[in-house]
Amino acid sequence: MIAARRGTSGAVCLATVSITTATTALSLVPSQEETLLREAVAGICSGFGREYMQRVRDAGEPPRELWEALASRGYLGVNIPAEYDGGGLGMAALSWVGEEISAAGCALLLIVVSPAIVGNILARHGTSAQKERWLRGIGRGTTKIAFAITEADAGSNSHNLATSLRRDGSRFLLNGQKTYISGVEDADAVLVVARTRLAEGALGLPSLAIVDVDAPGFTRQEIPMAVRGADKQWTLFFDDVELEEEEERLIGGENGGLGVVFDGLNPERIMGASICTGIGRLALERGAAYARERRVWGQPIGAHQGVAHPLAEAKIELELARLMTQKAAVLYDAGVPGAGEAANMAKYAAAEAGINCVDRAIQAHGGNGFALEYGLSDLWWGVRVARTAPVSREMVLNYMAEHSLGLPKSYCRDRAG
Ligand SMILES: Cc1cc2nc3c(=O)[nH]c(=O)nc-3n(C[C@H](O)[C@H](O)[C@H](O)COP(=O)(O)OP(=O)(O)OC[C@H]3O[C@@H](n4cnc5c(N)ncnc54)[C@H](O)[C@@H]3O)c2cc1C
Repeated sequence: MIAARRGTSGAVCLATVSITTATTALSLVPSQEETLLREAVAGICSGFGREYMQRVRDAGEPPRELWEALASRGYLGVNIPAEYDGGGLGMAALSWVGEEISAAGCALLLIVVSPAIVGNILARHGTSAQKERWLRGIGRGTTKIAFAITEADAGSNSHNLATSLRRDGSRFLLNGQKTYISGVEDADAVLVVARTRLAEGALGLPSLAIVDVDAPGFTRQEIPMAVRGADKQWTLFFDDVELEEEEERLIGGENGGLGVVFDGLNPERIMGASICTGIGRLALERGAAYARERRVWGQPIGAHQGVAHPLAEAKIELELARLMTQKAAVLYDAGVPGAGEAANMAKYAAAEAGINCVDRAIQAHGGNGFALEYGLSDLWWGVRVARTAPVSREMVLNYMAEHSLGLPKSYCRDRAG
């Protein structure tokens, strides 16, 4: 099993030590393991940072060197079971990794989809053959799998997904489109949510199919985005893409996707939250540093409560969101009811906190907040997107109203509605 430790040189590294599996208790005092893991990831990312991200983005390249630097030391598979070459430390540890990457001014959207969504789904529901084929590579960080559920015509109503799987002898044929799918340019495969076409032509329950990016009939088109991350967004087209038999390609079996997919969507929300708290930390650090230095009326602008209080409020919201994110990760790792509710609350709280941190840091910078030189305005879309994706603010509130407060559902499930 791997864990973080400090070597004789003082450098932090992953090594084989005897630690247990993912913690099922929320520790308010960071463990030595958490501290060392965070330090190690922050140390690696500091060698990359904003300039590196800008360079690869401008070149239209994925941030492969950053991925490789983190993956080769085991940090991108920390949540994957140790028997599949991961760290065995669960979502709590992956959320530390995600936060530190973002707090260092870097961004890796594939960490949200590959180890968090697909890795957890495979770990909990894959057959031995499927785990051997894909999970081991995810644990090592050498296999990257994107995730595709969103469709233009279905929107937030995933009951209306129209991408279909049709049985044809011993194989399946996949047809349909997905949109806003992250990181496909650097992925080996995509985990696609599709519905089985029934004999009478209607669509049945969802299934989860792993499709190689180079499969014949699978094409894609880039979506130009305001979000200036290194990962690209794509519309995917599946035109009679052939899949092997269900035991090979379908995770959870034919029609088995519904019970399985939330074991990926909750980690996705936890990672979305971690990215927001990381960006929030970075923005607040910059905002506070500027407010301590900048003098306009003979004293630092931070001496004015009009500048200080918004930053202080943002700090409180940020710490509350970090706590909720850790709680959600621990509940997920423990496999207990309540993990879904906590993941939704964490994503909501972290998105709002992150947005406030960036917005208030920009405000504290005056005109400089909009200059690229100060490194704030380019954080904006990266954090603002979290109010919409991976699940929108409104759909989280719908979930909370219905499931946590027992209020009537305000919207219909079927197409007629
Ligand atoms: C940068 C980025 C990366 C993404 N990456 C991926 C990815 O890798 N894989 C993937 O599958 N998807 C991905 N997505 C898609 C993302 O998950 C969706 O955009 C998001 O879930 C919202 O769905 P939608 O765009 O269809 O909005 P819609 O469902 O069309 O909703 C539009 C607006 O209406 C609101 N609304 C809709 N229904 C209700 C209701 N019943 N009550 C109240 N309000 C409602 C929504 O909250 C939203 O504000 C990504 C999106 C972005 C922007």
